[in-house]
Amino acid sequence: MTCKEAQNLVMDYINRNLGEKKLESFLKHIRECKECYEELEIYYMIHFAIQRLDSDEHASYDIKHMLEEDLKEAEKSIRRWKIRRSYRYGMIVIAEALLCLIILTQIQGLNAGSMEETSFYRLFFQEETDR
Ligand SMILES: [Zn+2]
Repeated sequence: MTCKEAQNLVMDYINRNLGEKKLESFLKHIRECKECYEELEIYYMIHFAIQRLDSDEHASYDIKHMLEEDLKEAEKSIRRWKIRRSYRYGMIVIAEALLCLIILTQIQGLNAGSMEETSFYRLFFQEETDR
């Protein structure tokens, strides 16, 4: 991602409008590019200054700290997305393997004329009697 691209995404980041892919490359750039980090910091400060005027609060915020927490939170959510996706992928692989096993077992059962003749059935129900 170029600086121009990153800086175009600053408002989207603050408004939480970035999808996973864009957010990931945005964060990566922000972490590596001091210039863009400062740009983000400025927008972040302005954003919260405006919000504070709106809400009429007088508490003082540590904006730099808040931004750092915000970035860490975003990075964490990307990690969570990735874990969830690989978990989902694993489930799909398992489901497909089971489906294949079921289909193969049924084909074998049809060919043999009985479910008791399938290797799946033997594996689970006739293991002891085979010995
Ligand atoms: Zn940059």
